[in-house]
Order: sequence, then C-alpha cells, then structure tokens
Amino acid sequence: MIDCGEGTQIQLRRNKIAFNKIKHIFISHLHGDHYYGLIGLISTLNLLGLKSDIHIYAPSEIKNLLQPQLDFIKGGMIVNLVFHPLNFKKPQQIYSDKRVEVISFPLKHSISTCGFLFRELPKQANIKKEMIGFYNIPIAGIKEIKNGADFVTPEGEVIPNEKLTNLPPKPVSYAFCTDTAFHEPIIEVIKDVDLLYHEATFLESMRDFAEKTLHSTTIDAAKMAKLANAKKLLIGHFSARYNDIKLFEKEARTVFANTEAVREGLTYKV
Ligand SMILES: [Zn+2]
Ligand SMILES: [Zn+2]
Repeated sequence: MIDCGEGTQIQLRRNKIAFNKIKHIFISHLHGDHYYGLIGLISTLNLLGLKSDIHIYAPSEIKNLLQPQLDFIKGGMIVNLVFHPLNFKKPQQIYSDKRVEVISFPLKHSISTCGFLFRELPKQANIKKEMIGFYNIPIAGIKEIKNGADFVTPEGEVIPNEKLTNLPPKPVSYAFCTDTAFHEPIIEVIKDVDLLYHEATFLESMRDFAEKTLHSTTIDAAKMAKLANAKKLLIGHFSARYNDIKLFEKEARTVFANTEAVREGLTYKV
C-alpha cells in the first residue's frame, strides 16, 4: 500500500481488498492527507489478530507520532510493526524479493518527501514444453536452460538456448510521485517507466501558487512524463477547489498525450 489517508479503510472495503494482504506500507511524507489513516488501519489489523509483520517505510518521525496511540490499543499489540526510515538524500533500494524491487527517491516538497519506484525484476525464460519431451530433458537440465544454458544431448549434440525457450515477458515498472514540485533529478530514477503516477494539484493558471506550495501543475506532471519517457501518465491529488477533473486531463494532454486523470475505484494496468 502506498500512502494511507483518512478514507483508506472505507475504500478497502468498498473495493473488496482483503486487509490481511497488506504487509508493506509506503508513506511518502507526513502531511495528514498521506498518513492519517494509518493508526486506524493498524488498529483494525491488530483486531483481526494478524500475527505477521507489517513493514512501514516512512520518515523516521512516524514511529514517535504513532507510539502514543499504539500504547493505548485495546488488548495490546499483536501485530508486529517493522519501521524502515526513508532516505531523503538519495535514491535507495528499500525492498526486494524474487519478483520485484522498490526504490525510494527524494522529491521536492515543503517537508521531506519520497517517491517510490516499483520495478519487476527480469523474469526467467519460459522453456517450450514440447522441447522437454522431444529431447528428454531431465529436471536439472530444465533449470539450467531457464537460466540461459544450451542443452547437450547424450549424443553430444548442442541445442542452442533460443531453440528451447520463449522470451520471458518484459518486466514492468510503476512510479509514484506525490507530493512534489517539478523536480528534474527524478527523471533519471524513473527513466522509461511503464506507468507514472504524478501529482497535478493545480491547473497551469495557478502556477504561482503551485510553486509557492511546492506542488505541481498539469503541465509539470506532463513534462515529467515526457522527459522520463514514461509510457503512460496518471495524474491525481487534485485540489478540492476544482470540480471537473477533465480539465486536468485536457491540459496535461497538450504536452503528454497518454495522460489519464485518476478516478476513484478504478484499476489501472501497468
Ligand atoms: Zn504534502
Ligand atoms: Zn498531499
């Protein structure tokens, strides 16, 4: 989960997302709209009796902010919280498993803020099933072929790897950048990302105010997508003063055509 605003639990229920699937929570910064839902969510997970660890990647101060409320949780804490402080000086890998890695990187906002890049790791090649039978390939051989090896038959014939495998699906990536002003150092980190979520709090007509509050306009977000060579841009975090999010889409598309304004409850494919 990335950021945890006040309405998080309502949205999880509305969208039928199982609470017990949440094991890693990434908090971009400590403005209320990004973490005021966290203590409520932790309390619910605790009530559900979840015994697994919950990892929280956030500014280091979050522990002290939550602790006084955690001390009063009814029945004591069952859930084990593991805090991982974010680095606001440079990009850093903060999570990895066999399938994916997560990199945090500093943004430009009125308080310390990080964006997050979720990147699938290269996948193994798929071995063609019919080849296993045809060449009688043993299990040990399958593993080696998946890692790129050729196969040598008992007669000494070398079967090249390309003949035995299909190319693996291309790994995909997703970057989350909010809250932030236009910030060039981000480009290098998120270069060629498949899906970029970038805040666009204001329309371009409010550029001065956007700069003052260290937020972005639609054009900032679209420029970022263009310079980073993103495949698709999602914009959000719209100021409550606007009623029509189509205006955001329209303006951003003048710079980056493949832009969509996020709508609540929709799923977006990477
Ligand atoms: Zn903020
Ligand atoms: Zn915000």
